[in-house]
Amino acid sequence: MYRFYINNIDDDYHFMELARVFLPDDSFETIAYGGRPVAHLLGSDSYFVNEKGSNDREKIKREFYELLSGITGMRPPWGTLTGVRPLKPALEICRESSVDEMERIIKDRYLMSAPKASLLADIADYQIRNVTGVPWEKVSMYIGIPFCPTRCAYCSFASNVAPAEEHEVYLKNLLKEISYAGRLAEENRTELESIYIGGGTPTTLSSAQLDRLIGSVSDAFSIDPAALEFTVEAGRPDTITKEKLDTLKRLGISRISINPQSMKDRTLKLIGRDHSADDIREGFRIARETGFDVINADLIAGLPEENEDDFEASLREMIDLGAENITVHTLSVKRGSRLRENDPAYFRHNAETVSNMLDLSREMLSAAGYRPYYIYRQKHQIGALENVGWCLPGKHSIYNIRIMEDRQTIIGLGAGAVGKVYHPDEDRLERIANVSNYKIYSERFDEMISRKNEYYK
Ligand code: SF4
Repeated sequence: MYRFYINNIDDDYHFMELARVFLPDDSFETIAYGGRPVAHLLGSDSYFVNEKGSNDREKIKREFYELLSGITGMRPPWGTLTGVRPLKPALEICRESSVDEMERIIKDRYLMSAPKASLLADIADYQIRNVTGVPWEKVSMYIGIPFCPTRCAYCSFASNVAPAEEHEVYLKNLLKEISYAGRLAEENRTELESIYIGGGTPTTLSSAQLDRLIGSVSDAFSIDPAALEFTVEAGRPDTITKEKLDTLKRLGISRISINPQSMKDRTLKLIGRDHSADDIREGFRIARETGFDVINADLIAGLPEENEDDFEASLREMIDLGAENITVHTLSVKRGSRLRENDPAYFRHNAETVSNMLDLSREMLSAAGYRPYYIYRQKHQIGALENVGWCLPGKHSIYNIRIMEDRQTIIGLGAGAVGKVYHPDEDRLERIANVSNYKIYSERFDEMISRKNEYYK
């Protein structure tokens, strides 16, 4: 067991997170320490960090990174940056300096690799040029549909395989919650900037149910879905029918998401999908024929048994199918997923392969005219790498940008929805979560309703 005594810090949380990038959770301890090193504390696997007692947190983190790197031989590319929103510090620097200057500063400040610093610079440049408006003047809204046809091996979302009768019970309550939230929004003159229906897989609902759901949002919030950014995830191709997509299109939905994750049949089987790559091709064909402005496709780098060639083939096909947005995720193996249960250290394998896949994605997508426009990281991602949203110029999703900026209120409705209220005067967010289990959501429905009042306190 390694012990790291870190001098002159109040809280060891970020140091623990940094150590986790290099070492298994149960192999080390980080200890916030004050004073001179005491000889009896420092055994063979014990280290003292920041002996000179610096107050510069970033400097201490750099020292700690170098120590961990010396022990393990690793140099994780994000350097000392462990947060889930790496663009935030980059944009803060851009408020005072140019994007080029920011790229240089973050490389030194966080010991970040040159390719990651340049990726952040590309994203910052895209957002600065293309995303305008003061986010806190408007709000966005997320609605959760916690049902899927089967459960994927890596899933840790609020997603359930449930009979159709339970979809209906859930939907009835959700419509009441939408109507209540709409009344509050009207009373408070809240204007919506974007709406995202996710889950789960919203298109698990029938065409008639989708009609009622979107109709109720339009009525409750007095909006025309075609007049704002309104996305519906149609993630699983085995839920897509022409009838459902026609309904979405007729109601004014302009953006949908079809999420192959991989175009390799064996992988789809391994991750617990009940459909083939041909079903994904058919889903795209129907969506194109229906005529949506933007189709997003999610891919995952690091799926079981996949190599660089498999990933390249999937990405090539998404580019050739003309997806306007392609989101490249690094596999995250969280608690509650089957993959994690089978192999708790899964996310520590294949870092080099996944890193090659991400390099490949940058090369191929840039060559095909896509731009990176948002980024986030998650815990337990292979190699502590990242997820990047790519878009054809002008086809970005404002919802995805707002959710990462943390400077806008997001109203969360339905099971598993986590909303947040932004307080611009204090630049502070307050989290307001619904319960994630859809049965408990219905049982505690009155409480879910009353939580909506908290958005307007
Ligand atoms: S499609 Fe998404 S939400 Fe549904 S089971 Fe798979 S990972 Fe979970």
